[in-house]
Amino acid sequence: MANLLVTGGAGFIGGNFVHYWNAHHPDTRVIVLDALTYAGNRSTIAGAPNAELVEGDIRDTALVETLLRNHDIATIVHFAAESHVDRSISGPDAFIETNILGTNSLLKAARSVWLSNGRRAHRFHHISTDEVFGSLGPRDPAFSETTPYAPNSPYSASKAASDHLVRAYHHTYGLEVTTSNCSNNYGPYQYPEKLIPLFLLNALHGRALPIYGDGMNVRDWLHVEDHCRGIEACLLHGLPGETYNIGGGAELPNMEVIDAICREVDRAFAEVDGLAARYPDAPAAQGKPTSSLKTFVTDRAGHDRRYAIDETKARAELSYAPLNSFDEGLRQTLRWYLDNERWWQPLLA
Ligand code: NAD
Repeated sequence: MANLLVTGGAGFIGGNFVHYWNAHHPDTRVIVLDALTYAGNRSTIAGAPNAELVEGDIRDTALVETLLRNHDIATIVHFAAESHVDRSISGPDAFIETNILGTNSLLKAARSVWLSNGRRAHRFHHISTDEVFGSLGPRDPAFSETTPYAPNSPYSASKAASDHLVRAYHHTYGLEVTTSNCSNNYGPYQYPEKLIPLFLLNALHGRALPIYGDGMNVRDWLHVEDHCRGIEACLLHGLPGETYNIGGGAELPNMEVIDAICREVDRAFAEVDGLAARYPDAPAAQGKPTSSLKTFVTDRAGHDRRYAIDETKARAELSYAPLNSFDEGLRQTLRWYLDNERWWQPLLA
């Protein structure tokens, strides 16, 4: 496969994807385009052997065109986005700017370089979310690729709009696109505003674990490495114009995830030498259970109750299957944060 442009490659999933791609496709060069917002972090991909970071904005269409031409790029993997639902509720504008206008800018650049003055082989892969499908009742069937869109938050509405633009560039101009809609990711390098790293770091510092509502909102949890494998499968085997659901096969209420985090933190303090000295404010350092930090807070406005993902199509057509169990993936993730304080410590400041 020719060289790749990875947008948002200094963020959580994009950064993991850069490492994954370097390890599995060492002959391909990866150009990362990232604006390094609060969520982007140079150090996430500093050690990637075959990647180059270009600091820039996806809304800069001329810059994207130059990168596509100068680096002979025939594949774009588009992660760059504003991604945090709570931030979209307090300030939707940035989500409209990056997720909608930014995606249109990338599509324009791709069309201009790949389709005008002779057509060349190419692929535009767009990373989207299961949140575009709205909220499920307890017994509703899981989201499939044909579930109607019903986004409920400014974040999911902006992602839905970007999905429609990607689809439209395929149908109108013949751009060869694929889209994947994935569930909640977890793993290394996730910014500590999302549930798992936030709760882990709060637990280490003896701060409250704030649980929205009754804690019974349900999500499917996808290890980021499985997600990277799913994206690779879309690039290698996905058909232009198609969308694929990528899930982790681990549908859980938030409370079960939170209880698992508490158990794993307690276990780490029992097993890892020196943790109590490093984190003296942690309940686990004082012989108390981490669960003593659980605190119920006012629910998120418009909080979707349940997401669940049916990945039958990706399994059948792409041979995709998640390999990480949630328990093992969570344990590895917590240990990664304990071993990589140098990565997250500066973010807390
Ligand atoms: P993230 O917030 O960790 O990273 C986003 C990256 O995009 C950052 O590096 C940021 O600097 C960059 N960026 C933001 N605006 C930009 C701009 N205008 N130009 C260039 N770069 C810009 O996000 P993530 O969790 O890694 O999510 C990646 C993608 O996956 C997003 O499209 C998100 O909607 C989607 N997604 C994420 C999840 C999840 O659980 N994290 C679930 C479903 C879908």
